[in-house]
Amino acid sequence: MGDSNEHHAVRVRQCPAGEFCRSNTGLWDTNDTGAVAAHECGHFFGLADEYADANCPNRNPVNTGTIMDNNSNVVPARMMTRFANNIGSNVVAI
Ligand SMILES: [Zn+2]
Repeated sequence: MGDSNEHHAVRVRQCPAGEFCRSNTGLWDTNDTGAVAAHECGHFFGLADEYADANCPNRNPVNTGTIMDNNSNVVPARMMTRFANNIGSNVVAI
């Protein structure tokens, strides 16, 4: 790679035809929608998944209808508070 000192690297693959490839913060797929990419970027902001997952029975909250639940375009202010605090700003409803 030509770049260095990155904070995070993402590999991008092409999912084989007929297979389901779930993306994560380190591995994206060429067929990912913008909504999936936005969800994964949410993890870069420190956000946790909010979808129900049998492998994570104690996850809370779940089924929130937000970007971290079902990749919707719903990003409540609570999701940006930590980021705003880190840059010395605050969240303003729009
Ligand atoms: Zn996720």
